[in-house]
Amino acid sequence: MSKKTPLTTIGDVTDPGFGVYVHWPFCAAKCPYCDFNSHVRHQPVDQPRFVEGFLREMAAVRALSGPRTVTSIFLGGGTPSLMEPATVEAILNGIAGHWHMPDDIEITMEANPSSVEATRFYGYRAAGVNRVSLGVQALNNRDLKFLGRLHNVEDALKAVRLARDIFPRMSFDLIYARPDQTVEDWERELKEAVSYAVDHLSLYQLTIEEGTPFYGLHKAGKLIVPDGEQSAVLYEATQEITAAIGMPAYEVSNHAQPGAESRHNLTYWRYGDYAGIGPGAHGRLSVGAEKVATATERNPEAWLRLVEERGDGIAERELLDPEAQADELLLMGLRLREGVDLSRWQMLSGRDPDPDRERFLIEHGFIERLGNSRLRCTPAGMLILDSVVADLAC
Ligand code: SF4
Repeated sequence: MSKKTPLTTIGDVTDPGFGVYVHWPFCAAKCPYCDFNSHVRHQPVDQPRFVEGFLREMAAVRALSGPRTVTSIFLGGGTPSLMEPATVEAILNGIAGHWHMPDDIEITMEANPSSVEATRFYGYRAAGVNRVSLGVQALNNRDLKFLGRLHNVEDALKAVRLARDIFPRMSFDLIYARPDQTVEDWERELKEAVSYAVDHLSLYQLTIEEGTPFYGLHKAGKLIVPDGEQSAVLYEATQEITAAIGMPAYEVSNHAQPGAESRHNLTYWRYGDYAGIGPGAHGRLSVGAEKVATATERNPEAWLRLVEERGDGIAERELLDPEAQADELLLMGLRLREGVDLSRWQMLSGRDPDPDRERFLIEHGFIERLGNSRLRCTPAGMLILDSVVADLAC
């Protein structure tokens, strides 16, 4: 059973905000574990042409969303730090031209240590980026090589130092549960990592995704990842170390000092609205009582052609009925330590959680109630999140 920690509220839980996500789909090399929409091009990418595409698609999405106040922008990828600062500036100006951008907006950009140069970082900051998320991934060169990363530990630490100096907010990612990683190895690495952290860390377990080179190796028995028991031990060590330095998990894999949580990601997990711009981007936009789910064409050049021909690259547009919205709300909300708003779920699904299933999950220590209106996973439940969600959603 978990110890009950108090419910923290980050911003206004009842107003999940409105985010704009922009996807830059290019990387310098493809990492062998990656199933993101990322592509390697050996010719220079025509950035001004992509900017035009982003601006045209923004206009189409603005027509769907109506006027909104943007609470966060996230430039993700791929490797957005391959963009020129002028490209980033044009994208941010485009967003400001279509929606209201308040002064205290959070603007995050993902960056890879291998593509970091001080001049570009200063340029991104001048363009308006006020938070950077660095893909550090490991703090030893053997594992960085295994993960197919183009940077070494020295590059990573240089990028961390630069980011700390230039941006008001900074986070970095690490991947753990690597082959042969012992809990002692991970504890040592994580303790070193937290000494460089500012107020936020994303700590992901290595997952083997279908269609990746790691998937083939894993299937052939040539890549062995920690089993469920070892993963649980690594996960618990992660929780203990981050909690001890005042950066507890506020989501399955995300840790922050209270108040330093990623506002953009909270919008996803609190099931707010967000616009998805660029190749392979997803969006959720409320239109009256309905929510429209959008997904754009994934191939960058095909997306660009579509945008140039008809004004947007949206390949799928689905109207989510209240039941589908209730499922998504549960799926996203149970990732959070603050849990999910049950009254919102009841309103959408038109029912209460099945009492027998809920009792079973509570008795086995996987979920807990927070007052009458919130439900959340315990740390044990977080380890089997997909099963918990499937059980409750039925
Ligand atoms: S840098 Fe990131 S997005 Fe690009 S291939 Fe590697 S993991 Fe995927």
